[in-house]
Amino acid sequence: MAEQNNPTVGWIGLGNMGAPLAGRLVRAGYDVAVWNRTAAKAQPLAERGAVVAPTIRDLSSRGVVFSMVSTSADLEQVMLDPDGGLLTGDTAPDVVVDCSTVSVETSGRVRDAAAARGVRFLAAPVSGNGKVAAAGKLSVVCSGDADAFAEVRPLIERLGRSVTYVGDGETARLVKIYHNLLLGIYTEALAEILVLAEKSGVSRRAVMDFINGSVMGSVFSQYKTPSLVNLDFHPTFTPVLLRKDFDLGLAEARRTETPMPITTLTRDLVESSIGRGFAKDDFATLLLVAAANAGVTLESEEADVSDGLDPE
Ligand code: NAP
Repeated sequence: MAEQNNPTVGWIGLGNMGAPLAGRLVRAGYDVAVWNRTAAKAQPLAERGAVVAPTIRDLSSRGVVFSMVSTSADLEQVMLDPDGGLLTGDTAPDVVVDCSTVSVETSGRVRDAAAARGVRFLAAPVSGNGKVAAAGKLSVVCSGDADAFAEVRPLIERLGRSVTYVGDGETARLVKIYHNLLLGIYTEALAEILVLAEKSGVSRRAVMDFINGSVMGSVFSQYKTPSLVNLDFHPTFTPVLLRKDFDLGLAEARRTETPMPITTLTRDLVESSIGRGFAKDDFATLLLVAAANAGVTLESEEADVSDGLDPE
């Protein structure tokens, strides 16, 4: 349970990621009020003890407010909209912690607006999907005011298993974008070798079992295994969101004149998956794009494989 004198918490955005993360704070005993644009998504949290706020502004008297929305434009809207944004009303929280994956520029604009009204803003993007979050295995990378971080660290630690503070300003945004470039490239590499395996007559299960037990395996390769072996593409993270992150990464590459040929190619393969109609599916549909490019049709192996994400 949360200890006494803990800050009151607000949470904006209850999508695939926001809902399980806010749920972890509710379960830890914090006083949490939530707001979501599509109000129905707040209901399961209300049943578990969260207060449902009718508007974003109703969260402005909370001590710490988290946000977890889709894009840079969405973050600007929920924070800076003159008619209802969190930071444009009469009252404001002490600390705002944004966990969305957004651009450095947007994060800086929101930080400046927050500072102008005495609110300390932390960038705290995360690694892991909704199921990883629910299992308590998420990782958080955080940057911003060191004192604010020290104050809210116990709350952030409730979100997952690792919290890395990387310094001032927008550093965490960059680290998170680097991470997601690796995520896309790694998934594309898995897709290609699994299509090669298909053409060679080797099961995807055999390949993934070996990789997961090797130094090349990871929490990620393990939890993607059921998806890749049994072709389950229920969305945990969509190719549209991944394309956004590749575009953020490649914009930084252009700004710094850093050639990134593999990243550039992978970005276009993510685009192909959207063009082929997988926009609302999981980004692991990169496997289906690789198969189509090789002229093969994959079938589920109907194998009993674990994602390694047993709840805590
Ligand atoms: P999601 O399931 O699409 O949820 C997006 C959330 O943002 C929903 O609550 C949505 O409200 C809200 N939202 C979007 N635009 C809004 C606006 N203009 N005003 C108010 N609310 C708005 O996305 P997600 O997978 O949770 O991802 C959220 C963020 O986490 C993204 O930046 C993503 O890149 C990042 N991320 C995702 C994953 C993952 O595996 N999914 C992992 C790490 C980081 P509605 O319910 O009304 O649509």
